[in-house]
This record gives sequence, C-alpha cells and structure tokens, in this order.
Amino acid sequence: MSTAMTMKTAAQLRDTYLRREMFPTIFCDGCGIGNVLNYTLWAVDQLGLDLDRTVFVSGIGCSSRLSGYVRADGMHTTHGRALSFATGIKAANPDLTVIIFTGDGDGAGIGGNHLLHAIRRNMDLTVILVNNFTYGMTGGQAAPTTPTGSFSTTTPYGNVEHPLDICNLAKAIGAPYVARWPVSYPYQPIKSIAQGISKRGFALIEMLVPCPTAYGRRNGLKDLERIWQWYRDQVVLLDEHERIEQFGSPAERAALADKIKIGVFQDIERESFGERWSALVDRVKL
Ligand code: SF4
Repeated sequence: MSTAMTMKTAAQLRDTYLRREMFPTIFCDGCGIGNVLNYTLWAVDQLGLDLDRTVFVSGIGCSSRLSGYVRADGMHTTHGRALSFATGIKAANPDLTVIIFTGDGDGAGIGGNHLLHAIRRNMDLTVILVNNFTYGMTGGQAAPTTPTGSFSTTTPYGNVEHPLDICNLAKAIGAPYVARWPVSYPYQPIKSIAQGISKRGFALIEMLVPCPTAYGRRNGLKDLERIWQWYRDQVVLLDEHERIEQFGSPAERAALADKIKIGVFQDIERESFGERWSALVDRVKL
C-alpha cells in the first residue's frame, strides 16, 4: 500500500466522509478514539470503497459513537450486540462491506459470546475493537481487558483478575486476519484495517487507545503526555518479543512480562460463511 503519496489530508478526509452536523464529538481531551476513526477512513479511502455499499455498525460505549460520525449507512445498536446486527446485515446483503466499531467492554465483555460465534462462523466482517482497558462511557468499571492490579470503580483496591488477550483468542478460534496496534503507530493500523476489509471472512483489528478520563486518572495516567507515552512503552512487536524470548538475556526476558504484543497475529485464508452459504444454496436449489 502506498501511504503518504496517496493519502488525503485530514481536511479532505473530514469533508468527504464525516457528518459535520454531528460535531463536536463527545470525546475527552487526549482520548485516542478519534485517531481510530481517522485511520479507518484513510483505509476506506485507499481501498476506494463506495460509501453507498458500506455499513458501519457499533454497540454502546465511547468508541461505539463512531458509526454516527461517518456519512454512510450505519447502526448504533444495543450494548454488546453490534456483531449480531452486523451478522444479519451481511447475511441478508452479502455484497455490502460491513465494518464494526466496538470497545473492549462492548465487544469482548458484554458481547464476548457474539464475538466467539461470529469468528466461528467466519462471517465476512471487519471488527475494529477499541481497547482502552475499561468501560469508559458507563463509569470506568473493570473490563475483561483491565490489566491485573489496575484501579477502576469496581476494583478500588486493584484488579485481581487476569486480562483477556483478545487477539490470541481470535487467532485460536480461527479468525483469518488478526492484528493489534496502539493508536500511537499511525501507518500500521491503516494498513491492517485495509487488509482486514479486503480479507474474505472475519478480520479483527484491536486498537490500544488511551482513555485519560476513565482509566488514566485512576491509574496515575491522567496527564495526557504521560498516558500516550505509557502506551508506547507498554508494547513490543511480535518479532521482537520472539527474538528476546529466544535469545534475550534474563533481564530482557523478565522485562517482557508486562509488555503487550503488537503486530499481525494471523493472516490466513479460510472459507467464509457467505461462501459456504452460497454453495449450499446452489446445491439444494433454495
Ligand atoms: S471516557 Fe475515556 S474512552 Fe471515553 S471519550 Fe473520554 S477518554 Fe475517551
């Protein structure tokens, strides 16, 4: 993918794809969710998608407000149910491109069961899952992704649970495309979102996004520069992680313990639900 050569400016992107009447956005200062929308629209633009054939679906939460800002058909659905609605849209209209915005609470907590089964079916959907380690909009409760030891309104003495690794889960149950990036990496997410949309079958792109308001201020990361730097410090590329695990010193290996792996976790081919459904229709002459 060529990037800088063909990318629209932010103003061009705004004028082409956004509903100006919906502005200003609801996002707090220093929130990374707007960057996710930016990257998604750059990917949509680079693929030349027809917005009349593209649907944006979301559940409930801060990141789920994104579907309303795009000048395209969309559904802002119920909490945790974005994938159910998206599955119906895609099954009924296989020619549409369906992109889902969801959060870690919405997509992996309340909607976790729907996530599992959409991947199992290999629905041809692209899920952009915004992970801010918390239920931001609903009050800063602990989510399935909240790191061990983190403070939230439901873990005032520190979280004792282990966080869910969404990408490893999606990979294990066969999602054809799985990637994770922090929003502080601008180009890799655009490329991954474009690859995910182009992939037949289920694609999951997890975006690590700073939430200074609900997560940051309870965990010593209220300062905007500090929280964005923290996200840069927390991550390690998959290749680098593997290299250190194999060849690193004991100190380097010990330092990996708190790191979050980023990169493309899976990129495989697997027959999608739509392909198998079409074959069935042909066979039984439905
Ligand atoms: S509460 Fe957190 S995730 Fe929600 S808009 Fe504010 S900073 Fe962003």
